[in-house]
Amino acid sequence: MTVSEIDRLIHLLARLPGLGPRSARRAVLQMLKKRDTLMLPLATALQQTAQAVRACTLCGNLDTTEICAVCRDPKRDQSVLCVVEDVADLWAIERSGAFKGRYHVLGGTLSALDGRGPAQLNIAALLDRLRPGDDGTSAVHEVILALSATVDGQTTGHYIAERLADSGLAVTRLAHGVPVGGELDYLDDGTLTAALKARRPA
Ligand SMILES: [Zn+2]
Repeated sequence: MTVSEIDRLIHLLARLPGLGPRSARRAVLQMLKKRDTLMLPLATALQQTAQAVRACTLCGNLDTTEICAVCRDPKRDQSVLCVVEDVADLWAIERSGAFKGRYHVLGGTLSALDGRGPAQLNIAALLDRLRPGDDGTSAVHEVILALSATVDGQTTGHYIAERLADSGLAVTRLAHGVPVGGELDYLDDGTLTAALKARRPA
């Protein structure tokens, strides 16, 4: 292994959230010291995960199957759909154990600054999912907008609520308790559970 290969690895690792160049250097050094017990198993795991994991075609969650485990679980309440920005938020809500319905992952928020419009998000698929079936009713009765209390998160919530205004669905959002500017993923389980329980009309 040449120095340039080490540098390349450090550079790649430093792009991960929470890791700067310094942490990346330490991580690489540690891996090189534990080549057989850490570095090679990690390389295999990275390759296998990259090949096996895909986005659920229904909700956008990540899993190794076309339809994710949450969507496949017959015990989950089909009448409530929780809309989140990112898979990290889905994981946060799952960790809290406060929600037993299903999800829809948008893949981000609307952002004028970053040039992200509705077409860049998983919104069309959401509206499709909520469209009434042949019998005129939708399996979903309530849509919870579990979005960050950031400007972009709230803009996204308003946009979706507006699109669903005539749908007859109950559209709710998380209660205060989500601090302004707060991202869902950073909330502790208790706060998230309280915000979900005390949700109100959007
Ligand atoms: Zn799914």
